[in-house]
Amino acid sequence: MRIIRSRTELATQVAQWRTEGATIGTVPTMGALHAGHLALVNALDGVVTRRIVTIFVNPIQFNNAADFQLYPRGLEADATLLQNTGKVDVLYAPDEADMYPPGFATRIMVSGLDEMLCGADRPGHFDGVATVVTKLLLQTGASVAAFGEKDYQQLCLIHRFVRDLDLPVRIIPVPTVREADGLALSSRNRRLTPPQREQASALPTALKTCITDLQTGKPVATSLQTCRENLKIHGFDVHYLDLRMGDTLKEAQTAIPGTRLFVAASLGEIRLIDNMPVT
Ligand code: AMP
Repeated sequence: MRIIRSRTELATQVAQWRTEGATIGTVPTMGALHAGHLALVNALDGVVTRRIVTIFVNPIQFNNAADFQLYPRGLEADATLLQNTGKVDVLYAPDEADMYPPGFATRIMVSGLDEMLCGADRPGHFDGVATVVTKLLLQTGASVAAFGEKDYQQLCLIHRFVRDLDLPVRIIPVPTVREADGLALSSRNRRLTPPQREQASALPTALKTCITDLQTGKPVATSLQTCRENLKIHGFDVHYLDLRMGDTLKEAQTAIPGTRLFVAASLGEIRLIDNMPVT
């Protein structure tokens, strides 16, 4: 596995692979890698002949400076983890000046999808995500890219702008990888204190209970209210808890198949998100 830190060096590698007729797949990440990220690498098995994992903590998607500063980083450990898969050809970890040189002024904005859920909570966040993902897809020359359902709204948004901008990339969605107690793996989990980590298991449990309530015919508003109260009892500050259509992300009045439950809730300073389908 080669570690590439500069955009020009990556361009040379990609050009060489193109002459060899390679199919390139990419997995964009912000590092602090875990089994969820590795599931994305594995999702490219048999689909591509070259794999590039990108690691870039993208400053323009953080609307809180402290959150950006405190985001977990560890390139060496990440490189070892990727190397040990035996599947990754290049780890691309550009620096900020290479991604956003002086005078950088462009944003990709996906209207509508960026205003609800995490978009309402974190203004500008999804413009930052769409911009960096577009750049990474172009820089890596990927024809396939894997993204996790853990960040379901992000996945919807990426599908949208890839279609809207005619980017020649196939998006592979990957189901959320969870800990044994159901907590979705996330780089942010590293910042939880041991007691907070114990508390955090209440999040997936509350979602599952809410889905059971919905499936057994409890009204949506009552089920969501019970779930919110349940989360508060477990120490969460709930930013949103919504039932929405899985394709359009529009609010759903009834729990029909295709709807999903979406949550963002904080334990202290740590903001966690999750989502689950109503089957
Ligand atoms: P991040 O490094 O957190 O920005 O995530 C990079 C990619 O990994 C995104 O496509 C995420 O949706 C995906 N991802 C993060 N956590 C998980 C998880 N627990 N299961 C599946 N995919 C994940």
